[in-house]
Amino acid sequence: MDVLSHFDTGLSQPFDVDGGDVTFDLRDGRHVLHVLLRRAPAGLRVRLRVDAKGAEFIAAQGLYVSRDGRRYEVLPLAADEDGLAAALPEAGDVFLATRLPYGRDNLDRLLAETRGAALAVRMLGRAARVVPVFAFGEGAAGLEHWFVAGEDAWETAGSWVADAMVRELASASDVARRLLATAAVRIVPLVSPYSATQPAGSYTTLEGGGIYGAATWRDKPPPPEYALVREAVVKAARARRLGLLLTLHSWQGAHDHSGIEFIRTAGGREITGNRLEWAKRTLEALIRDVPRGRAHVAETIWHPGLARDYMLAGHGAVTFRIEITTCGQSYEGFAETARRLLDNTAAVGDWRPALP
Ligand SMILES: [Zn+2]
Repeated sequence: MDVLSHFDTGLSQPFDVDGGDVTFDLRDGRHVLHVLLRRAPAGLRVRLRVDAKGAEFIAAQGLYVSRDGRRYEVLPLAADEDGLAAALPEAGDVFLATRLPYGRDNLDRLLAETRGAALAVRMLGRAARVVPVFAFGEGAAGLEHWFVAGEDAWETAGSWVADAMVRELASASDVARRLLATAAVRIVPLVSPYSATQPAGSYTTLEGGGIYGAATWRDKPPPPEYALVREAVVKAARARRLGLLLTLHSWQGAHDHSGIEFIRTAGGREITGNRLEWAKRTLEALIRDVPRGRAHVAETIWHPGLARDYMLAGHGAVTFRIEITTCGQSYEGFAETARRLLDNTAAVGDWRPALP
């Protein structure tokens, strides 16, 4: 049996093959695994050595397995002497992953499969990096909504939701018609395609360092991809066109719900009175009927420099974030999440209070 990882988003970790077992060491922050086991024997036991944080992310979600490297299914994991384990049902070639992979191949597929739809795909670029933006209602005056996923490249459930949003809006569905009648929409399924092919969980810099890229919105300047997205969002805010900014993240299986939130205070600014009431109503409206959805208002940001911290402190804008759960849901749940979020966005009548 071979353990291979030279393909898009492939990433191996230290491993050991012993009899009918293969053991991967995912401790010390190495939570991401995406390998192809070639000629795996029948009944092979896959063991994952995990630390507390890794167990939190992976245990309730399960191990992802695929025969073709495209559609992954969940194989439940059971506790083992020093980690988690699952037995492969069949012999042969099998892909294993601890995240539902989302990378350049998926962006290419999305481009190919939405060709001919009424959308423009802009490749923003700077300093040897690109950010693909899927733009619906290009050139339309008025409101502009932004959905930004993959700020943390390995939080792929967010990217799968954004991918499904693009497909939904590229179709002639009722949801697409309702939303695009009221606003232009910009969707970023993967902020840093380059980072999705690297070991760092969030973002890999030009120098090769792994950093928490999502928290660089108030850097001067942020790394290229975040700077490009930030400039476009700020431009919409300055033109008083920005409606919703929703960043899509995933806490994997660490929680069994998908949590949406906004923050009430940042950098000496606070949301009060009618605007606070609007923000709370909008939060509830956005999460309505989202699978496993739950709303939360945070007094302040949990980590400085994230998009909603920067947008409130710097521009007075109320913006939102959702963490998608991978507990008990996969592609179908993500697609339904995408549909609900788009339809709910269309149902919010007044977006003006998003800006001061
Ligand atoms: Zn995140």
